[in-house]
Amino acid sequence: MFENLSERLGGVFDRLTKQGALSEDDVKTALREVRVALLEADVSLPVARQFIKAVEKKATGAAVTKSVTPGQQVVKIVHDELIGVLRGEGEPGSLKIDSPPAPILMVGLQGGGKTTTTAKLAKRLKERDGKKVLMASLDVNRPAAMEQLAILGTQIGVDTLPIIKGEDPVAIAKRAKTQAGLGGYDVYMLDTAGRLSIDEELMAQVEAVRDVANPRETLLVVDGLTGQDAVHTAENFDERIGISGVVLTRMDGDGRGGAALSMRAVTGKPIKFVGLGEKMDALETFEPDRIAGRILGMGDIVSLVEKAQQTLEAEQAERMMKRFSKGQFNMNDLKMQLEQMIKMGGMEGMMSMMPGMAKAAKQMGDAGIDDKILRQQIALIHSMTKRERANPQILQASRKKRIAKGAGMEVSDLNKLLKMQRQMSDMMKKMGKMGKGGMLKQAMR
Ligand code: GDP
Repeated sequence: MFENLSERLGGVFDRLTKQGALSEDDVKTALREVRVALLEADVSLPVARQFIKAVEKKATGAAVTKSVTPGQQVVKIVHDELIGVLRGEGEPGSLKIDSPPAPILMVGLQGGGKTTTTAKLAKRLKERDGKKVLMASLDVNRPAAMEQLAILGTQIGVDTLPIIKGEDPVAIAKRAKTQAGLGGYDVYMLDTAGRLSIDEELMAQVEAVRDVANPRETLLVVDGLTGQDAVHTAENFDERIGISGVVLTRMDGDGRGGAALSMRAVTGKPIKFVGLGEKMDALETFEPDRIAGRILGMGDIVSLVEKAQQTLEAEQAERMMKRFSKGQFNMNDLKMQLEQMIKMGGMEGMMSMMPGMAKAAKQMGDAGIDDKILRQQIALIHSMTKRERANPQILQASRKKRIAKGAGMEVSDLNKLLKMQRQMSDMMKKMGKMGKGGMLKQAMR
């Protein structure tokens, strides 16, 4: 549905997240690319502009650029902003159809998929919500359209109002209302006539029908492939008729998806459903979270969740640094570090995020220093008692043997781990000293 846009954004964000440190200029450059990608997807200019402005405001602050994972933070901000642009009120796909019989008015241009969508929605209401639905075609100019709805009705097992030749749309609407009341229907759907373009006659007719039916929902069905035209159509219909929501059809095609992104921002009306094919069950609820996920690529979202956790961990890390600078670094600390490394994509992944370390990271990867070793080391720590973890210096031969055996490894492996812990402890102590006098002072000069 959003393949091209998704691909473009993916490229931008890939570069952004691979960069370790980010300057405000880096973020701005990336956002310029995002803007171009949005415009190419046929998102309207004011919407793209406003979107970028909102993201930029949140993404260029020190809280982001100085964070542990600036690239991911920016992606998350874009993700949240996307949801904001797409979201309407209430539950996705919710319709006001209490107080039966509830009328739903279906409006739109000819060929947009109105009749098909009427039937798809009727099927959904019947099957998912257990509603008794009546459909009526008001397209008196095109007998074929009336026939089409009747045929679809038979196919999906939903009643249609019998066709009476020569009846005008307002009379049909009234009859549908009466029939719906008498027949105990929960919902009746009025499939109005479409035109190839918006004209006065069409609007006047739809208006007249609206006034007698007093619909609970007025859904505009538009072809999503038409991009900004779809948004203009929605604006026009809303001004004249007043719509409660939009159904975007043909989102199964390779459309650029811009209509979906601009619709809510330009018209103020939510997209309630999307059509994803010609079949009767090819109708989906429009869920902003999922759509944003789709646009940014699912994998990113999963990692975003993890990154959110890392923000919390950053605070924890600060507290730890205080202890480390005093040379307090035991096996629990080492375990946490190892786990963190795995989370950040192993040694190789973590080091590649640090400026200037990409090459070293690749060498380590090539040398086989990877997740497996990290996990083995964690297993060794797991096999220690609480006391041993806090005071690794108490480990003598018999304890070592027990621990190694418990983790299914050799004492020599454990010795390596112990050496690592001692080295890190020493290093931390040195860094702490530098932090107080040397390093900090140098940085301030
Ligand atoms: P109407 O004139 O607005 O009532 O349009 P129709 O409901 O007759 O649909 C026009 C054509 O578009 C039909 O061939 C439908 O099968 C097709 N169509 C409708 N919705 C979709 C959709 O979501 N995806 C695709 N691929 N085709 C659709």
